[in-house]
Amino acid sequence: MTDCDVVVIGAGAAGLGAAKRLRAEGRSVIVLEAMDRIGGRAWTSSDWFGLPFDIGCAWLHAADRNPFFPEAEAAGWTMHHHHMGLEHLYFGGRKATPEELAAMEAADAELARRIEAHDGPEDRLSALMTEDPTVRAAATFAGPMDFGKDDDEISIQDFRQAADLDPNYFTLEGFGALVARWGADVQVRTGCPVRLVDWSGQGVVVSGDWGTIRAGAVICTASPAVLAFEEIRFNPPLPVSHVEAIFDLPMGLLTKIPLRIEGERMGLNPFDDLLIERFARHDIYFLCFPFDLDLMVGFVGGDFAWEMEAAGVDAAVDFTTNRLVEIFGSDLRGKIRDGHMTNWSAERWVRGAYAAASPGRSGARSVLAQPVGERLVFAGEHLAGPLMQTCGGARLSGEAAAARVSAFLG
Ligand SMILES: Cc1cc2nc3c(=O)[nH]c(=O)nc-3n(C[C@H](O)[C@H](O)[C@H](O)COP(=O)(O)OP(=O)(O)OC[C@H]3O[C@@H](n4cnc5c(N)ncnc54)[C@H](O)[C@@H]3O)c2cc1C
Repeated sequence: MTDCDVVVIGAGAAGLGAAKRLRAEGRSVIVLEAMDRIGGRAWTSSDWFGLPFDIGCAWLHAADRNPFFPEAEAAGWTMHHHHMGLEHLYFGGRKATPEELAAMEAADAELARRIEAHDGPEDRLSALMTEDPTVRAAATFAGPMDFGKDDDEISIQDFRQAADLDPNYFTLEGFGALVARWGADVQVRTGCPVRLVDWSGQGVVVSGDWGTIRAGAVICTASPAVLAFEEIRFNPPLPVSHVEAIFDLPMGLLTKIPLRIEGERMGLNPFDDLLIERFARHDIYFLCFPFDLDLMVGFVGGDFAWEMEAAGVDAAVDFTTNRLVEIFGSDLRGKIRDGHMTNWSAERWVRGAYAAASPGRSGARSVLAQPVGERLVFAGEHLAGPLMQTCGGARLSGEAAAARVSAFLG
């Protein structure tokens, strides 16, 4: 006797995508979500600024392949095609010369070429770096701000498997709000953390403090960090290959520190990209005044992001303010009204921004994608192939997991 065909663990893009696909195939599904809301890392909130702000994903990457792009068009979302060039580069408080800016763009292209051409046992991205400041600036963009990791923690092979994410779109109403709108028709049991998946019998028995559900199969979309922390136990334990793969996919971190700045644009245009290269990888990128809103959205990534989130919001806002004041002058200080910081490292049910394979371990994604016992399938951004780390990729991964589970159930 089962309560449903499939239990889906997690109501982020992957879990919602899986549930919708299964439902369309006539399967009965129960979605269990630990948090008190759906969306997971897709989360738009108006609490900070009184207007929609994406605490998690914001860019619709790879719009030509992103299933959320047509969704956004149908919803009438206000979208901006954001060309991720770099309009403003600073080394500390010094503005880069036009020659340096051009050199950085050339370094970016050269880095991409070296990654593509790389052959040999060395798998750390740092091996392809030089100490030239313009090369380092290019690496900051590719590493901490993109992969959420410093270059010595990035696998070249893994990086190479990730797709070029152009074209990128930014939305006014929020990517998280879009996912919530799309997922609103899925029945989700929120506030129900799964603590045990028992697959010792014929199907699966999934349980937590909220009760027990019997099903034919389970799709688990929890992040690798949640799994590594053993928030969910498996009985019998997962195969060693899967456990290793979970640990080989540690989370990177990207932290947003948005500042509300009133009555001052500092000569910057909406959607300009500004990067401040600093010593010891304490670099910070700003998306300037998106949609002409009074917001400069700061981003730090990699090890510095973990440090920043541990230091707390006051320290983060102070750091970010000081970087801008160094460049644009002290009058700016009085125009900065308030600031906030995202804190995904402290979100128990995520524990980071997105996964990146450790150097030498890029095979982990395909290992973890293997079904276990023909009734346990993992899904999520970490298993999204070339669209790894993206919200659209997470949804496609959930849909693919649903198709696999359906095939098992017959
Ligand atoms: C700061 C930041 C910026 C980002 N920017 C972008 C961007 O611009 N564009 C982009 O495409 N992507 C971006 N991403 C990545 C994107 O948000 C994720 O790739 C995507 O949302 C992940 O979806 P998912 O379904 O795989 O995981 P999640 O959204 O994490 O969903 C998994 C769900 O499982 C739940 N869960 C975990 N454990 C349990 C349990 N034991 N029981 C029940 N439920 C559980 C969690 O609460 C969560 O809701 C960003 C992420 C962050 C953090």
